[in-house]
Amino acid sequence: MKTVIIGGGLAGLAAAYKLPAGEEVVVIEKEPQAGGMASSYSIKAPNSGSYNIEKYYHHIFAGDKELISLIEELGLGGRLEWLRGSTGYFFGGNIHPMNTPVEILKALPLMDVARLTWLVLKAKSIKDTAPFDDITAKEWIINTAGESVYNNFFLPLLSSKFGENKERVSAAWLLGRVRIRSNRGTKGERLGYMRGGFNALIEKMTDNIRNKGGYVIQGNVSRIEVAAGSVRGLTVDGKLIRCDRIISTVSPHTLKKIIDVQPLGPDMNISYQGTACALFGLKEKVMEDVYWLNIKEDVPFGAVIEHTNFIPVSDYGEHLMYVTSYFQDPGCVLFKSGEEDVIELYLGGLEKLFPGFRKKVKWWRLRRDMDTAPVYETGYGKKVLPYKTNIKGLYLAGMFSEANYPERSMNGSIVAGFRCAETMGL
Ligand SMILES: Cc1cc2nc3c(=O)[nH]c(=O)nc-3n(C[C@H](O)[C@H](O)[C@H](O)COP(=O)(O)OP(=O)(O)OC[C@H]3O[C@@H](n4cnc5c(N)ncnc54)[C@H](O)[C@@H]3O)c2cc1C
Repeated sequence: MKTVIIGGGLAGLAAAYKLPAGEEVVVIEKEPQAGGMASSYSIKAPNSGSYNIEKYYHHIFAGDKELISLIEELGLGGRLEWLRGSTGYFFGGNIHPMNTPVEILKALPLMDVARLTWLVLKAKSIKDTAPFDDITAKEWIINTAGESVYNNFFLPLLSSKFGENKERVSAAWLLGRVRIRSNRGTKGERLGYMRGGFNALIEKMTDNIRNKGGYVIQGNVSRIEVAAGSVRGLTVDGKLIRCDRIISTVSPHTLKKIIDVQPLGPDMNISYQGTACALFGLKEKVMEDVYWLNIKEDVPFGAVIEHTNFIPVSDYGEHLMYVTSYFQDPGCVLFKSGEEDVIELYLGGLEKLFPGFRKKVKWWRLRRDMDTAPVYETGYGKKVLPYKTNIKGLYLAGMFSEANYPERSMNGSIVAGFRCAETMGL
């Protein structure tokens, strides 16, 4: 049996990792490097050597059980550390820390804190979120806790997570999120990170697949061949590869472009959002002690993430900060303009928040992709894609799978890859 996996991100690597030795497995990734959204830059360190840093900011949560087990299984457990990643909100010209109940009390009007507490308690008491799939999060928040809680607390969060899609997001998504993220304790939430970067996990998974006799190769899949309702093969860089089974991990709209028959009918209509994420190498730190800053001001990005306020700067020899924005329209300035123009746009906003920022910049990188996250809009609950399709031999696993709802994550894609392999009866 020959299985070809389209996409060498975590879902594709996880599925290949689970396929038994002796099975012919080929992972095809269009980029020169595996890892997809979780891949890294290799940056020349200021003193000597180089270090890896994710192209998009990444950390993990205590509940990411399967990812944590996998890291341990691969002998990388010693690299995993749990650190406090402090959160702040920028409004009224200042940064307001918002990690602990006391800090939230200082930053928000007392009435808002009482209403927010009520909202969290109510959200946690809701066991079945399905009836909330057709209501927007905005509507539910305003009805439950009022406009002020929406504007002061949730709006910056939704903007940083969904950009211009913030008003389309469903209440079912919000309820699921509150359930998994609201137990932060009195000192704030601890977040996990693999010292040296998640690149080590991707490399270990790739090595493991190769050691079992599988392949992880670079190639662009342009067509899936189907005949009489069964998978026959695929076209990679113009060449036909015959196979019995395909696991597609690419976004549904990419899949639609490379296959003639629709494996799941009109349900494959999940909309995704794009991301434009800049990484700045800096001479000095910018914020005192904030890792993640949500922003209420009018700037062309939704969040600023000072990585070296989470992981010690000594790991890199220089300060690192991400500046990021989500977008929907592939024709928008953040996706279409030249890299320098996007960086210039971000620098203008950064100067507004942190006067003198520009002088601290040593270098920058910009990563942009169109399909970086499904938009958890109203009705999304009914669109989640199954692992097995109605085309014989065609399977799906990725950010669109049930394992990645309500939060697409590295853990979710790993679980999706594992469950897809299980569904194949292996
Ligand atoms: C800005 C950002 C921040 C994030 N932060 C976190 C975080 O803090 N914690 C966390 O757990 N998760 C985070 N994530 C989510 C996490 O990175 C993803 O959920 C996960 O990596 C997705 O893996 P995947 O394999 O499902 O998809 P992808 O990584 O998208 O993999 C799909 C792969 O398919 C390849 N491909 C596409 N088309 C073709 C083709 N035609 N032929 C061959 N290959 C193709 C792509 O190049 C890609 O490598 C973040 C993601 C982003 C974008």
